[in-house]
Amino acid sequence: MKARQEKVERSGRAALPSMTELLTAADGDARFGKEVRASVTHALTAAVDEARRAMGPSDVAPSVDALMARAHGLLGGQARRGLAAVVNATGIVLHTNLGRAPLADCAIEAITATARGYCNLELDLESGERGRRGERCEELLRELTGCEAALVVNNNAAATMLVLAALAGGREVIVSRGQLIEIGGSYRLPDVMAAGGAVLREVGTTNRTRLSDYSEAIGERTAMLMRVHPSNYRVVGFAESPGAEELGRLARERRVHFFDDLGSGAIVDDAMWRAAGEPMARESLRAGADVVSFSGDKLLGGPQAGIVLGRREVVERIRKHPMARAVRIDKLTVAALQVTLELYLEPERAVREIPTLAMLRASEAELRGRAEGLAAELSAAFPGESFEVAGEESFAGGGALPAWPMATFVVRWHPTAVAAGEAARLLRTARRAVLVRVREGAILFDSRTVSRDDHAVIVAAIAEVVGRK
Ligand SMILES: *Cc1c(COP(=O)(O)O)cnc(C)c1O
Repeated sequence: MKARQEKVERSGRAALPSMTELLTAADGDARFGKEVRASVTHALTAAVDEARRAMGPSDVAPSVDALMARAHGLLGGQARRGLAAVVNATGIVLHTNLGRAPLADCAIEAITATARGYCNLELDLESGERGRRGERCEELLRELTGCEAALVVNNNAAATMLVLAALAGGREVIVSRGQLIEIGGSYRLPDVMAAGGAVLREVGTTNRTRLSDYSEAIGERTAMLMRVHPSNYRVVGFAESPGAEELGRLARERRVHFFDDLGSGAIVDDAMWRAAGEPMARESLRAGADVVSFSGDKLLGGPQAGIVLGRREVVERIRKHPMARAVRIDKLTVAALQVTLELYLEPERAVREIPTLAMLRASEAELRGRAEGLAAELSAAFPGESFEVAGEESFAGGGALPAWPMATFVVRWHPTAVAAGEAARLLRTARRAVLVRVREGAILFDSRTVSRDDHAVIVAAIAEVVGRK
C-alpha cells in the first residue's frame, strides 16, 4: 500500500522539479552562461508549464535534465523569431513554406562574392557602356531552350502579371475553367488577371474544355489564349483540355497571342519529368506558345525568379512595359541564377550539383542507405526509443509533379514521452527547428530531404523532446 502511494507521488505532476532546483541547475550549466537571468527564468517556467500540460496524472515527470534541454531550446527560439535555417525532414523537396529550392554550392559562392563588393550588374565591360541586368542569364536560357528571347523578373507571379499587362491590358484573355487555379499565398489566377489589367474570359467546364470552346470565345476584344499549369491539383477521370500544339495553332490562325504559364518549368528533357507529365519549356515554345513563364526556384532548382521566354518581339514588348522595372530581379539572384543555368549546360553535373535535382532523383537504394544511417545514429543516441526504417511515398512539392508520388525511405519514430503530434510541435520549436511528417501516430524523418549535415540538428531536437543530451 505504502509503496504504491510513493509511486503515485513520484510520477504525478507534483513530482516536477521546483523552480529553485532548476535555477540552481541552470547556474551550473554552461549552456545558460551567456543568457540574461530573466530569460532563463522565463524559459524554465515555460518548459515546466509545457510539461505540466502534456502530463497525464500517472505519467513520470520529466527530469531536471530534460527540462533544461527544453528551456535551452526555447531560449534559442526567443532569439530566433525571424528567418532561420531549419531542417526539412518532410521529404517534400520544393516546400514553399520552407523556402523551396536549396541552392547549389556554386550558386551560394556566387551570391557571396557578388554581395561582398561591386559587380558589373548593368555595365558591359567590353564597351564600357550600359549593359542589361541578367543578360548572361538570358543568353543561357536561349541556349538551353531554343527560345528567341528571354527576360528574368522577381518571381513567376510577377512574370504572369507582367505578361498579362503588356500583352493583354484592357483586353480579354481566354482561360479554361479547369485552370482558374489558386496556388496558395494569395495567388489566385482571376485576381492576378485583374491586377494585370486584363479581362478574364472563362471557357469550358471544370473538367472538360475543348478547342472549340476557345475558338468560339475569340472575338474583337481577345488578346490572348492562356494555359495555366494546374500545379497543386489534378482533374482526373472524365477530363479533357487541348494541348499546347492545338492552342498554338488556333492562336496563330486567329492572330491572338498564346501564353503558357508552366508553373514549375522543366528546361531540360528529362525522362523523369516526361514520365510525370511535366511540360517542357522548349516543347511548349515549339508547339506555338508566343511566350511561356515559370519559376526559378521550383524544378529548376535555382533562386526565386520568374523566367519569361518567347518570340523576340513579344518578349521585347514585355521588357518595355513600365511594370518590368518594378519587378526586376536583384543582383544576388542574377548571380545565383547565372551559375545554376551554367550547370545545365552539363546535364550530368546539373543532376549532381543542383540539390533539387539530386534529391528528386536519389535512387531507392541511396534513400534506404541514408535512412538506415540516420536510424542507426538515432538509436545509438536514444537507446530508450525505437527508430525503424520504412518504405513510404512523398511528393516533389512546389506544384511540380503533383500526381507523381515518389517511393522513399523514412525513419519512423513512435516517441515514448509524448504523442506524435506534440513531438512534432516540439521538434518544430526546438532550438534549431526540424520539420517532419506525422503519420499513424509516428514521426517520419524522410531521407530524401535530410542530408548528413542535418543529423546533429535532428539529434539535438529529439533530445529536447525526450530529454537527453
Ligand atoms: C508556382 C506557380 C506560380 C507562381 O510562381 P512564383 O514563382 O511562386 O511567383 C504561378 N503559376 C503557376 C502555374 C505556378 O505553379
